Amino acid sequence: MADQANPFASLQEQLDDAGGYLDIEPDVLERLKHPERVLETNLTVALDDGSLEVFSAFRSQFNGDRGPYKGGIRYHPGVTRDEVMALSGWMVYKCAVVEIPYGGGKGGIVVDPRQYSEAELERLTRAFAVELRPFIGEDVDIPAPDVNTGQREMNWIKDTYETLENTTAPGVITGKAIDSGGSAGRVEATGRSVMLAAREVFDWLDRELTDATVAVQGYGNAGSTAARLIEQQGGRVVAVSDSSGAIYDPNGLDTAGVANHKRETGAVSGYGETEELTNDELLTLDVDLLIPAALENAIDESLAHDVSADVIVEAANGPITPAADRVLTQKEVYVVPDILANAGGVTVSYFEWVQNRQRFSWTENRVNNELERVIVEAFDGLIETYDSTSTPNLRTAAYVVAVERVANAYKQGGNWP
Ligand code: NAD
Repeated sequence: MADQANPFASLQEQLDDAGGYLDIEPDVLERLKHPERVLETNLTVALDDGSLEVFSAFRSQFNGDRGPYKGGIRYHPGVTRDEVMALSGWMVYKCAVVEIPYGGGKGGIVVDPRQYSEAELERLTRAFAVELRPFIGEDVDIPAPDVNTGQREMNWIKDTYETLENTTAPGVITGKAIDSGGSAGRVEATGRSVMLAAREVFDWLDRELTDATVAVQGYGNAGSTAARLIEQQGGRVVAVSDSSGAIYDPNGLDTAGVANHKRETGAVSGYGETEELTNDELLTLDVDLLIPAALENAIDESLAHDVSADVIVEAANGPITPAADRVLTQKEVYVVPDILANAGGVTVSYFEWVQNRQRFSWTENRVNNELERVIVEAFDGLIETYDSTSTPNLRTAAYVVAVERVANAYKQGGNWP
């Protein structure tokens, strides 16, 4: 089992690592390691049986030097203040590495949504939106979906905010349904950037994604879309997993068939004539490409020694602990870091916000083409920095690019009050 590295400590370590390769004042780096503010609140919600339940919830606004705070809202029983702070910090550096004019934020509610009815989840979401209202806004802080939240929750938050503010403000949140001001291409944007990052890193390594064997941990929004798009590029997805277990077929899985099976049964296990694996067996499979697309800390130091993949593209945020990163670097496993690989989500959220502000919709083609341009340019910039510095791996190179941009924005604004 993976260790439970504190994700906030992991973020700070990643920033310190990058600081070693940057000409940055230690006090400026220190500022960039802490959130500007964290809202912690307890939501009292009426359940269907008439009783009340209290849920802890957080919103961290990490850094706004490059633009409004931006980041998803997660519903999970394991949500903690430190996790939310870490995720909000990763958003800052993600937006910087792909040059989206946003800062970083993140939110979460400590809840297992599977235990509650839709009506209870609506009351919970609206209660959170009421608490968030003074802190968010189209030019202030713009939430989005994350684990266990999607269009439904985003529509409820938008509706609550607009009703209380007596206005229309579709740009207050992204990841909405199309009819509520969402963008074409948003649902699959994270998986699409993972596919693009995989294609670019294989190309850089003079390898082909066609015929590459692929394992995907986590078959939710990000993981299942990445699997499908990589299959379309000719990749062979041999193993996938979710919280119920992992399945393996050396001849390649039909990714759409697995997605249908999961929709019908709630799990990937039991699909077709596949072999069942444990989660750790999936993560250590001998494949060309491994995609962790579940939660943080999936690969810790001890598991990293057993990783057999040549390349890892991080769809999840923070799936590799810093200690595991050092092992993988030593083993010459190339890791495309989360802050670039899964940046498609926030990039198309940004496109959604731009469309909302202009009251003008883009076609799906335009969205996908613009996304491809952003990811390819960011990847090229990352390689340039990796080649021109002595950074040990792609993650540190990505943070060097990102931290420099955020530090410049901070210094240009000056420190006030
Ligand atoms: P999701 O809820 O749609 O999917 C998560 C999947 O992970 C589910 O299938 C779940 O069963 C599985 N899972 C959970 N624990 C697991 C375990 N121990 N082993 C195997 N599978 C496990 O969430 P998502 O939106 O796809 O997010 C997944 C990751 O991608 C998160 O780290 C999230 O922060 C990141 N991410 C998502 C987006 C987005 O736009 N959705 C954007 C950027 C990053």
